[in-house]
Amino acid sequence: MTRRRDVTFVTSTKSTQKSYERWSAEEDAVLLGHPDMTAEELARLLPRRTPDAIRKRRSRKGRWSKVRTPLCSRCDERPVWTESPRARRMGLCKGCYLHEMEHRRREEKRSNALRQSLLKERRRSSREEKPTIGA
Ligand SMILES: [Zn+2]
Repeated sequence: MTRRRDVTFVTSTKSTQKSYERWSAEEDAVLLGHPDMTAEELARLLPRRTPDAIRKRRSRKGRWSKVRTPLCSRCDERPVWTESPRARRMGLCKGCYLHEMEHRRREEKRSNALRQSLLKERRRSSREEKPTIGA
């Protein structure tokens, strides 16, 4: 056995300090998003992982995984939040999904408020004068 292989592993000291760090969804997305890359190439994208760890993870997840997590359709950076069925359907990551839902809620409030005031307006005007066109 040569020592040369060990030298490349030394570069990621972080992963040797802790025995095992859970793979994050982001790391898995990188891994599954680049089935054409070698473990060594991927190790450069994944600073916490050694080529060996990447190989191991690959054999577990499958290199050409069918459950490949697509990237968020809005930011195109983070993987889709697959834990949430709704976020998954919308193709959004957690951050963008939450942002979108908050945004929708605000819009909903505003449109409700507008509807209410238009309704009041209409009631008032129909009492005071003959119904007008539109709105
Ligand atoms: Zn996003």
